[in-house]
Amino acid sequence: MKGPRSRGAIRVRPGRPIRLSAIDPDSTGGFEGKDAARVSLDKDLDRLRERQRLLYADGRHALLVVLQAMDTGGKDGTIRHVLSGLNPVACVVTSFKVPSAEELAHDFLWRIHKAVPPNGVIGVFNRSHYEDVLVVRVHQLVSPAVWKARYEQINQFERILSENGVRIVKIYLHISKGEQKRRLLARLDEPAKRWKFSMADLAERKLWDKYMDAYEHMIRNTSTAEAPWYVLPADNKWFARLVMSTVIIDVLDRLDLEFPKFDRPALRSMKRMRKTLRAE
Ligand code: AMP
Ligand code: MG
Repeated sequence: MKGPRSRGAIRVRPGRPIRLSAIDPDSTGGFEGKDAARVSLDKDLDRLRERQRLLYADGRHALLVVLQAMDTGGKDGTIRHVLSGLNPVACVVTSFKVPSAEELAHDFLWRIHKAVPPNGVIGVFNRSHYEDVLVVRVHQLVSPAVWKARYEQINQFERILSENGVRIVKIYLHISKGEQKRRLLARLDEPAKRWKFSMADLAERKLWDKYMDAYEHMIRNTSTAEAPWYVLPADNKWFARLVMSTVIIDVLDRLDLEFPKFDRPALRSMKRMRKTLRAE
């Protein structure tokens, strides 16, 4: 079931069954607590900044981070922390909500494809095309034949993207039902968090087991070599942030990014330009 780990993240090997109930959402990968992880997170954020500059300068690849989680799973906070300090020019976050009438009149990947980041840019999907095999399945918004066919459609779509320079990392923030209860209560208790609460959250919570089944099935059918799923223990927000930054750095490191190279004639003309500028 388990694949290679990036500091506590579980990379799901293609075709392997996974059991979410066997993965501890409360794991902290050996870190004692938030303060102990602070130095590592700060270092990671610096490394991420460096890699982002290189991705932008290199210009041959985009990075797409797909984020999925149950309500209160920590998607927004993780995005806020992990992307803090990155160059906003080369970073785009897209949140996918209930599809509009126009979006529903198209194939489910229409709105997704438009949001794929261009070369040089890090794109994050806050929810994604995976809702079209999750919420849609749990609420029976389409027939089983329709959502089942989407696994292969998604795999093909992601293959096309990856063959065209888009590196895809898919992250599932794994929280426990108990932690969700704590976070929902915090949203009700704390005035500054109330705006995040939605009545629908409680209805969705009742469907927890159905969602877990849908997530397991979806991860098993769509974790591919070119676009793997990572399951991140996320009951501890600080740990999920740390692990997510590490996963992204690892992926960027494997891209062999480099600053553009210049041939001799280009270097010679730069030399001339330098001379001209200096003499000005
Ligand atoms: P939030 O992330 O709290 O802003 O909520 C967004 C809502 O949009 C969630 O309840 C999602 O399940 C829902 N949503 C996102 N994509 C889809 C989709 N393709 N079909 C139906 N509902 C969706
Ligand atoms: Mg919500």
